[in-house]
Amino acid sequence: MKKETKKDKKLRLATIWLDGCSGCHMSFLDIDERILLLAEKVDIVFSPLVDVKEFPEDVDITLIEGALGTEEDLHKLMKIRPRTKILVAFGDCAITANIPSMRNPFGTEATLNHVYLEMGADRPQIPTQGVPPLLPRALPLHNYVKVDVFIPGCPPSADTIFFALTELIEGRTPELSQMTRFGA
Ligand code: SF4
Repeated sequence: MKKETKKDKKLRLATIWLDGCSGCHMSFLDIDERILLLAEKVDIVFSPLVDVKEFPEDVDITLIEGALGTEEDLHKLMKIRPRTKILVAFGDCAITANIPSMRNPFGTEATLNHVYLEMGADRPQIPTQGVPPLLPRALPLHNYVKVDVFIPGCPPSADTIFFALTELIEGRTPELSQMTRFGA
């Protein structure tokens, strides 16, 4: 029987979204049939695309979409970082806090009052159950942990995502300056 070499072994890929809109993941799906090429090289071990509940150990590459907006986001990030070799800030919300940071100048109390009381429908109230507490400010990943690779864009284009992943899988650091931000 042929012995499995390091080269044959598939990498373990995870993706997750925190305080994001899922648009970066939608763009990931836009790589279309190229996902079959990726599937030859990686196993997706955790993602909204697969039914796994617990973030696993020994992940090679994790794409994180979204900023840190809640205590739950922070808890997840602190679990992911030590379990991941290459942590990728996936999209502008992860890199700069982008859209989630628009609440920062107003503070959490004013934000919650505006969204749930002033904009509320028939029975306005601020939810106390099932909604994780907001962090004082929405911040990018690198404010809390070391980030290894940044893939910019809102969202990054499918071509950019495929290129970056292909480079990472081959053990190279993706040089993204030649890629367009919003599409090929
Ligand atoms: S970077 Fe843009 S597409 Fe991605 S989560 Fe943020 S707002 Fe959505």
